[in-house]
Amino acid sequence: MIPGGRLVVLGKQGAGKGTQCVRLSHHYVIPHISTGDMLRGEIKAGTALGLEAKRHMDEGDLIPDEVVLSMVAKRLDQDDTRTRGFVLDGFPRTVAQAEGLDDLLRPAVLDLSINIVVPTQLVLRRLASRRICEDCGTIYSTVAPPRVGWICDVCGGEVVHREDDTEAAIHRRLDLYEQETAPLISWYRRAGTLVSVSGVGSPDAVSDRLVAAIDDHRRAGGFGPPLPAGEAGAGEGDRDDLAGR
Ligand code: ADP
Repeated sequence: MIPGGRLVVLGKQGAGKGTQCVRLSHHYVIPHISTGDMLRGEIKAGTALGLEAKRHMDEGDLIPDEVVLSMVAKRLDQDDTRTRGFVLDGFPRTVAQAEGLDDLLRPAVLDLSINIVVPTQLVLRRLASRRICEDCGTIYSTVAPPRVGWICDVCGGEVVHREDDTEAAIHRRLDLYEQETAPLISWYRRAGTLVSVSGVGSPDAVSDRLVAAIDDHRRAGGFGPPLPAGEAGAGEGDRDDLAGR
């Protein structure tokens, strides 16, 4: 059986987290949990949470920690994540969320947090050309569009420019990343569960690096045993931190 895992993927907006997390989810057969996709789903469904989230998201601001934590808590309480684990995309984004995640997982622990490192100039170029399926969240770009028009290859949904991918909101999100999310890199490094991988290059090249880093960590005994069903409890990384890849 393919072993599961409890993974967190960190990285700036445009580092490739969304694309790579889908690939990791298929490779390790673990659920992909993207808080951005979950929040966009709430907006589309017109829920109270969606209405609140949209206000923050359009400005490029973060959703309050307690709101995101309670949404993630519900998802982590489902059978698939309890038994196989998960790859978390866009969460945690603050130290308070990382502490909340540890509490949610206890007695289990996170196996690995992976920091995808990409220079800011490159993420700005990627974000300007990013497009997304508004139904399933699949990510495209003006240089790698869907096969037919702007219709999603995966689900037939409409592929659009995200409302919060405006220049102002992108700069706000990158600033918030430095203030709120970059400190998580040293937080996870201190916990001994961080590996940094370069996100420069083709999606296939980056996936190969990620899988190699995860498999190395597992071989070195860094992963906890898989949980039997029902036992779960309720500034940028330095370049010299790249795991020799
Ligand atoms: P990006 O990484 O480009 O910002 P996401 O899809 O991950 O895109 O997130 C879009 C928006 O959703 C964020 O700007 C923020 O408003 C909100 N969001 C997503 N995840 C979180 C989180 N963990 N905490 C707070 N807000 C979040």
